[in-house]
Order: sequence, then structure tokens, then C-alpha cells
Amino acid sequence: MTAIDLIDRRQFYIDGAWAPPVEQHDALVIDPSTEQACAVISLGSQSDTDAAVAAARAAFDSWSITPAAERVALLVKLLEVYERRSGEMAEAISMEMGAPIDLALKSQVSAGSWHIRNTIAALEAFDFDRPLSDGAPGDRILYEAVGVCAMITPWNWPMNQVTLKVAPALGVGCTMVLKPSEVAPLSSSLFAEMVDEAGFPPGVFNLVNGDGVGVGSQLSAHPDVDMVSFTGSNRAGVAITRNAAESVKRVALELGGKGANIVFADADDAAVERGVRHCFNNSGQSCNAPTRMLVERPVYDAAVATAERVANEMIVDVASKNGRHIGPVVSQAQFDKIQGLIESGQSEGARLVAGGVGRPDGLEVGYFVRPTVFADVSPEMTISRTEIFGPVLAITPFDTDDEAIEMANDTSFGLTNYVQTGDIDRARQVAKRLRSGMVEMNGKSRSAGSPFGGYRQSGNGREGGTWGLEEFLEVKAVSGWA
Ligand code: NAD
Repeated sequence: MTAIDLIDRRQFYIDGAWAPPVEQHDALVIDPSTEQACAVISLGSQSDTDAAVAAARAAFDSWSITPAAERVALLVKLLEVYERRSGEMAEAISMEMGAPIDLALKSQVSAGSWHIRNTIAALEAFDFDRPLSDGAPGDRILYEAVGVCAMITPWNWPMNQVTLKVAPALGVGCTMVLKPSEVAPLSSSLFAEMVDEAGFPPGVFNLVNGDGVGVGSQLSAHPDVDMVSFTGSNRAGVAITRNAAESVKRVALELGGKGANIVFADADDAAVERGVRHCFNNSGQSCNAPTRMLVERPVYDAAVATAERVANEMIVDVASKNGRHIGPVVSQAQFDKIQGLIESGQSEGARLVAGGVGRPDGLEVGYFVRPTVFADVSPEMTISRTEIFGPVLAITPFDTDDEAIEMANDTSFGLTNYVQTGDIDRARQVAKRLRSGMVEMNGKSRSAGSPFGGYRQSGNGREGGTWGLEEFLEVKAVSGWA
């Protein structure tokens, strides 16, 4: 591919118009299926950040007092545009981060429409102005937009993350600057086009591309930014929190995970296969992936055999092809990290039952990883403690409920855990004892309006539903109202 074929996304969206960067600083976007550059963006500088924040600040006073119904009407329009242009969005996501095109459309893009739709429903039910209690008629509680928000997002589920932040923030009356991942920025540029087409007032939504040390740090430290909403790695979450401390801004963090999937002997027949597929979905690049399968001893050997079969049957191929295969991982850096972790599994004594280091047969180019299963993984091994972010499953046996719960909780993370058992009383008891923001049992996914977020080092935020609105709201107590 020559430079002439590159998609040009070098402009930023500031104050309702597309603008070139103040200083030219091109960066290439790499298609992980081909390892070739597919697009060029700009990395912003302090001047671009300042311009975007100033636009958001100027728009805040009027946007924050717009009647909620008007904001909802614009979100309805945004949803319509987003759904109409879903094919373009799927192509952008597939190219920038390697999700196979069918997964990109059916899961990645549709996660965005799901969040916009659920936000609209939550807004329609939300009371921004309510009495404190029946016994205190003179006390009023007002929920008001927190202000100018910086949104810093990762590459793994790009529109899922962007819509989970932008839709509620727009809906409650915040203004914002989005800085998507520089690794996968194309979907967000397209999203900015959609916001523009929907007709939001200038300055309400702004987009600046950049890297973490540049625009990311500038936004986190900016005195005119009231809140940072961040999804990504723990390393960056800590850096953002430090940067934000000086200006005492609110920081909402959605960080990593190392989910346990507890499979009891009385689990349904499909539980193990379902867990393996879930772990490998999106090439293992999900913060809530069930990457540690803990299996009750009587069904352990059968579970390992099932995982081996599922991994060996899993097809790996380029993202542009239709089908239910898994694509590459996002980058050379992620590929190298995953290879190193697979090596550590072998050197630390786990039993490799499928996959391993190197690329799958026939795929010499592209960041393709072999679907890998380790059995007999002990809790202190690196592959049991580190978020791998690749198609790598670790299986460990257990004998008692207490042991399974202790192992599940023996992690610095606490995002999503999973429980598989036919005994509903046992399932509920285990769910209560798991230290995580979410527990999914017997393959039932969370419903619309359910909060997404973690305990401990998985972060402090809650996105989705009513909780996702409250994240972007201040609470004002007024007395003498009546
Ligand atoms: P990352 O932290 O490297 O990057 C995420 C974003 O932060 C990017 O936009 C990046 O430019 C920016 N950034 C990096 N350093 C920064 C700094 N010092 N200051 C400000 N911004 C900075 O993460 P990633 O590799 O893009 O994403 C993978 C991580 O995201 C995984 O750990 C995964 O678990 C996590 N994640 C969490 C959730 C969740 O909801 N809990 C969802 C998806 C992904």
C-alpha cells in the first residue's frame, strides 16, 4: 500500500467543525491483519487540547440547561444516524483493531447502539429534580451536569467504550472532549461525523486525537476539565489519577480484569465450551473475559478435554473475511506481550494442552495468536495473575466452594466473575462472596440498564443505566424550597 491509499483522518472535530492540528504531527494506523499502515491521523498538541476544552467550556452554560427532552431528542437522532451508518462503522473497527467484520458489525457496532438506546431509556426515567423525602418538603435534590468532561478510551471495544461515556454525558448536559486510542482512532472520527450529522450544538462534543503522554496527560491535568472518564490499563489509570489530583477533578476509572469462571460439577453440559468461547471472543481482548477457569475436581479432566477441542477447532483468520473466526490481536506490542506470557506459562510449569507460541499455520503476516489453553495452572503463576489480553485460557482444579471463592478473589482485579452450577442456592451464595462489580451466572448476560464496573484495581466507575447517568452528575441540596 502506498501513502496515497491511506485514509486521511488528520483533522480534529472542535467547536462543531473539522480543523487541522495546530502543529503537524502525523501518526500511522496499522491494520493488524496485514501489518500495513491503513490510515494517517494527527497527534494533537497542547494548543489543540486547549482549543477543544475552550469550545466545551463555552458550550457548557447553555447546553447544561437545555431541557432534558431536547437532549434526548438529539440522542434519538444520533442513534438513527449510528444505525444507518453501521456498515461504515464496522469496517472502520475491523480495520483499526482486527475484529472480524461479522463480529465488528454484530457485537462491536451493536454494543454502541445498545448503549445509546439504553441511555435514552434511563434518561426518560430519570428525575433530575426531586424532594429529599416526604418528611422534608422544603429540601430539594437537584442533579446537575458535572461540567466539561475528558473521555479517554481504549482500542479493544472502541464504540462500546465511547458510547458508554458520550451518550450519558450528552444526555445529562455535560460538554466533552473525546480522546480515543491512537491505536484505533478511525471509529471515533466516524462517530464525530455522526454527532455532527445529528445536529448537536457546536462545542458540546469535541474530538482530539493524540497519545497518552500528550493529549491524554494534557486533558487529565487541564484546569478547565471538571472530570476525566477513563477506560484502559491500570498503568494509565494511575497516571491520570495523579495528573488530575492537582485540580481535584472527578476521575472515573474502568480498568483491567482477570475474571474467574467457577465451573461446578453440576454445571450444564455447555458451560465449559461456552466459557472457552467467551474467553477467546474478540481474540481475548476484553476486560471482562473469563480467563481463569476454575473447575471442580470430578469434572476437571473432561473440562480440560473440552477446552482442548474447542481451542483446536477455533479458526483464526484475517478480519476482512466473513465468518465466526477470531482475528489478530491489535498490535505488535500486544503480540509480543502475549507470546512472552505463553512462554512464561510453559517455563513456570503449566501444562500446555492447545496452542502455544508462534502464529497459527498459514498465517505468516499479521498479529495472529494461536488459541491457547493451559491446564494445571496454579494461582501464583504469572498467567494466572496477569491480564494477558489475548486468546489464552488458564484452567485450575478445586475441591471445595471455599477454595474456589478464595482463588477467584485472589487477584488485584475485581471486574466480572462467572459461576456455573445447577444449584441456584449455591450460585447465589457464591455470587455474594465474589469481590467483583459483576457476576454472571449460567450464561445469562446482564440486562439493559445494568451497571458495568469493577472493585479494587478494576476501577471505581459504573457505566450504563441510571448509574451511568449519575457518574456525570453533581448532586445539589437546596433548602427553603417550599
Ligand atoms: P491504555 O491504558 O494503554 O490506553 C487507553 C487510553 O489511555 C488510550 O487512549 C491512551 O492513549 C490513553 N493513555 C495512555 N497513557 C495515558 C496517560 N499517561 N495519560 C492519559 N491517557 C493515557 O489501554 P489499552 O491498551 O488501549 O486498552 C487495554 C486496557 O483497557 C486493558 O487493561 C483492559 O482491561 C482495559 N479495559 C477496561 C475496560 C473496563 O470497562 N473496565 C473496558 C475495556 C478495556
